[in-house]
Amino acid sequence: MKALLFHGPHSLSLVDREIPQPAPGQVLLKIAAAGICGTDVHILRGSAPAGAPVILGHEVSGEVAAVGSGVTHLKTGDRVTVDPNVYCGHCSFCRSGDVHLCVNNRCFGIYADGGFAQYAVISADFAYKLPDSMTWLEGAMVEPAACCMHGAEMAQYRTGDSLLIHGAGAIGALHVQYARLRGVSTILVSDPIAHRRELALELGADYAFDPLTQDLYREVRKILPDGPRVIMDCSGVPRVVEESVRQVRWGGRVVLFGICPADQDISIAPAYINDREITLCGSYDYIQLHQAAIDLIAAGRLRVQPLISHTFPLTAYEQAFATFGTSRSMKIMLLPNEA
Ligand SMILES: [Zn+2]
Ligand SMILES: [Zn+2]
Repeated sequence: MKALLFHGPHSLSLVDREIPQPAPGQVLLKIAAAGICGTDVHILRGSAPAGAPVILGHEVSGEVAAVGSGVTHLKTGDRVTVDPNVYCGHCSFCRSGDVHLCVNNRCFGIYADGGFAQYAVISADFAYKLPDSMTWLEGAMVEPAACCMHGAEMAQYRTGDSLLIHGAGAIGALHVQYARLRGVSTILVSDPIAHRRELALELGADYAFDPLTQDLYREVRKILPDGPRVIMDCSGVPRVVEESVRQVRWGGRVVLFGICPADQDISIAPAYINDREITLCGSYDYIQLHQAAIDLIAAGRLRVQPLISHTFPLTAYEQAFATFGTSRSMKIMLLPNEA
């Protein structure tokens, strides 16, 4: 089979590999679609950790091509999507319910071979059936959707909340839609790219700003004189996080959803946080939200198809990664079994 192998920072190549065989409890998947995530790009640049050599790709959909012994709930031909966070179940984090923080995590597509290949194996417990109505591309969007749903839990939205989202790429656009489902009433987005702002408005945002040409602080204060109660940072830009602390409403929450470069600090006066009871919190992965994300996408409550801007065969991976982050791009999908 063809597979995209990550050898270490800045080193990725297309290789020929034996098709893996499912061990007991595992299934073999013929990968239909695999999304390129910001995390993959950080791994490639060396700014996020991963195993090496390893096949990346953790946002996947595919068909069960073979089942290992002992697998009873899946059969050959089933269409599935993967919850990539393969946790150990016995570390202190797993035993206290924080399985997404598992210290022994063997994340599919990060520490174990993933979906940038024609085939991949996964523990059957982490494969979820897709409804017939869902497309392969939608199936590969379940993982990022579930991540955003966890971000909303970290944000602790209250009915009637106001929210400012920095970054209106595929992730920001998912946050817009899910915040609406969670009862957030005023949703503002900030993104320098016009078509992303337009799409965010179409998907339910109330206001969209260009931070490069508008004074964002003033524009937001015109609508929300005390500031938004929640700011969801999907930009991963340290300066934007710093500004968010000053922009957020007193008593509010700033959620760090985008990944800032690991070697950059921000500067915040602790007293500013004290007096105003501001909460700064991270958001990483998710806990048992995979099925809920499937259900919301299948029901049309989270629209993911408009977020997919490009599809490429695996052989065009260089072009696919070069397209990531360009102004016309949103979610980019690799289709490993298409020529
Ligand atoms: Zn991802
Ligand atoms: Zn664990």
